[in-house]
Amino acid sequence: MNSSIASNIDNVRAQIRSACEQAGRDAASVTLLAVSKTRPADEIRAAHAAGLTRFGENYLQEALDKIEQLADLPLEWHFIGPIQSNKTRPIAEHFDWVHSVDRLKIARRLSEQRPAHRAALNICLQVNISREPSKSGCLPEDAPALARQLSALPGIRLRGLMAIPEASDDPATQHRAFADLRVLLEQISHDIPGLDTLSMGMSGDLEAAISEGATIVRIGTALFGPRPPKPA
Ligand SMILES: *Cc1c(COP(=O)(O)O)cnc(C)c1O
Repeated sequence: MNSSIASNIDNVRAQIRSACEQAGRDAASVTLLAVSKTRPADEIRAAHAAGLTRFGENYLQEALDKIEQLADLPLEWHFIGPIQSNKTRPIAEHFDWVHSVDRLKIARRLSEQRPAHRAALNICLQVNISREPSKSGCLPEDAPALARQLSALPGIRLRGLMAIPEASDDPATQHRAFADLRVLLEQISHDIPGLDTLSMGMSGDLEAAISEGATIVRIGTALFGPRPPKPA
């Protein structure tokens, strides 16, 4: 199992390198975030032993259990799942990044609840870039005003935008959604200095995301294999 994680990591890194080469980008400009939802702590430990340090989790209680079990390792934890407003405190206390902030109320609570002894919580504003009904993320047209409000909150640090585009096997469709997010970040950056993050691209579309400027790719299946059905 450990050796398969190690070889999967090698393969994903090679994919990232080759996508960067094709895009004329430095491979160091893309951060690999390992999405470890549903994966037991020992697999994360093996992934760390094989060189990964950043892990993304979607389900809060599952994540908190693993963070506690792995407290002896110097890991960076990213929350990437939907956020209920009554669950913000443990997120503010235990994570380094949150990619899935899509409304002001959540951002305010994370800012207020961030422990004073910790650095500001890194935040991405999640955008529903494909305008899918009933999907998470703010509408693209609401992103600039929301980003301005988020950037004023002291306990958080707005880093950029995140999106989960509509699933598609068509490279042109993949590129279009990622390009839309890139252009939106460029637009918002006129107003807000220091934004440096485009969190986009998963196992099935990381090449398109990198060619459109992704700085963090969130990879689960290609590292850990297929997931069991998600917990209820
Ligand atoms: C599960 C998940 C991923 C990883 O998806 P894979 O297709 O397994 O790479 C990335 N981002 C988010 C927000 C996810 O929920």
